[in-house]
Amino acid sequence: MDVRPRFPLAPVLSGSALWRARAPQPRSVLQAGAVRHVTSGRVAIVHALRAMGAGPGTVVLLPAYHSAAIVPPVLWCGATAVFYKVRPDTSVDLDDIAGKLAGATVLLVTHYFGFLQDMPAIRAFCDAHSLLLLEDCAHSFFGEQAGRPVGAFGDYAIASSMKFFPIYEGGCIVSARHSLANLTLHGAGMGFELKSLLAALENGFAYGRLGPLSAVLALPLRLRNYLWNKHKRARGGASAALAPSSSDSSFQLEPVWIDKRASLFSRLVMALSSTRRIVARRRGNYQRLASVLAELRGARPLHATLPDGVCPWVFPMLCDDGDALAARLLAARIPLLRFGAPAWPGVDATTCSNSAALGRNVIALPCHQALLDSELDAIIVALREALQDRDFQ
Ligand SMILES: *Cc1c(COP(=O)(O)O)cnc(C)c1O
Repeated sequence: MDVRPRFPLAPVLSGSALWRARAPQPRSVLQAGAVRHVTSGRVAIVHALRAMGAGPGTVVLLPAYHSAAIVPPVLWCGATAVFYKVRPDTSVDLDDIAGKLAGATVLLVTHYFGFLQDMPAIRAFCDAHSLLLLEDCAHSFFGEQAGRPVGAFGDYAIASSMKFFPIYEGGCIVSARHSLANLTLHGAGMGFELKSLLAALENGFAYGRLGPLSAVLALPLRLRNYLWNKHKRARGGASAALAPSSSDSSFQLEPVWIDKRASLFSRLVMALSSTRRIVARRRGNYQRLASVLAELRGARPLHATLPDGVCPWVFPMLCDDGDALAARLLAARIPLLRFGAPAWPGVDATTCSNSAALGRNVIALPCHQALLDSELDAIIVALREALQDRDFQ
């Protein structure tokens, strides 16, 4: 049985990905301030924490509802992670944070799924309590609020470029308030540059997006396999990774990648992409899924509306029974993700019952720009079938 999803969970390269129109492009975290491109969002968190002086004896406040990838950067800096609560709608619980300020220097806030937190209020809270603010824009590469691009309220912001662009690796650190000029980054070498290029091509290729290019690509992909094997033999085993494991859905932080620049290919794709199309297609796909869900029982959009200024990362739905629905959708080979599960060890319902419930009952479907209309149709058919078959209806 083929268990691979029928289509990609994350954007893949396609012919239409690289047409940047002259029309104005939507606002993104890149417009929030100074920018440096690294290989992942978690590496960007390390740089931001270091710049804010997080280290032994300091506390970094992290949301209990999280990607486990945000914790290792805090520990790597020698700081202590303290987890704060979120509300049922994923907004940060400032009352809870107010009780956890002892030793705290940094507050990390995540814009879950692309929906923005109330940043004017959070900024005011941080100023009142002498906290530095790190905006986690891993889910919100695009967006604006109160006339400012996403990421502009934080002392620093980070983003995970690979969640929004058809690239194999990439994250960025941004600051509206500080220079990033003395952050030293190095190229990671030719093997990495090639891997980044070929992995992105191969991914587009695997999902049938690159049509006639496939034939042209067959040779470089064979060459790639040859080079990989040679490289592995030369360096021996697991330590020889040409790219960080952050590109393969691990939660680890690999120190050797901290000071590495994103590949030229990733930066080029980001510069050439029509970000207008990315935002328009993501919002359009999201809205189609939301309108279908409105007619069904057993699941509803986590958010009742899609506000202006939001570009969704995925389409999060709140389900009566997350496990049962996920099993049905996966059986139909629909790609999905369940954010916040698993959480960092020790973070559970006693830390924050809302986070635990969100981790259990939110299922997120893809709405990215590289989904074909026929693929969105297939998601909708599977969703209807999965929800209409439910026993409890
Ligand atoms: C993915 C993610 C990160 C880390 O980004 P990487 O690019 O995978 O390192 C940080 N925060 C959140 C909320 C994420 O989902």
